[in-house]
Amino acid sequence: MQTPAGKECRFYYEDYHRGNSEQYCRLVRNNPRSLDWKEKDCFHCPVPDILRANSNPDLVLEGTIKKGLLGINRHVAVEAFCSRHLVEVERPEVGCHQCAEERPGLQELFGDNT
Ligand code: SF4
Repeated sequence: MQTPAGKECRFYYEDYHRGNSEQYCRLVRNNPRSLDWKEKDCFHCPVPDILRANSNPDLVLEGTIKKGLLGINRHVAVEAFCSRHLVEVERPEVGCHQCAEERPGLQELFGDNT
């Protein structure tokens, strides 16, 4: 679904049909450590770009809306984990190193043509 910021994000939900007026972010909705979501959070959120760069279904994201220092610089902080290897993923747009090591390289896919 397209966020108020115009990017695709699977965590965004809205329903304006048949008298409904509901919108929320599923990523932070059940996170008790997060501030409540507001539309403006989507405008600087890294999640849509992460999802576009890495579609690995084993990548699990956790989002927390936080205030920055002195109450400014509100932002969505993202932590990532690999549910396959049970490790933290430092750069979610790149992905889990162990998953990458398990993927076949070009040589395995196409054989040795030398
Ligand atoms: S805040 Fe981020 S994760 Fe949540 S709906 Fe907006 S873009 Fe998606």
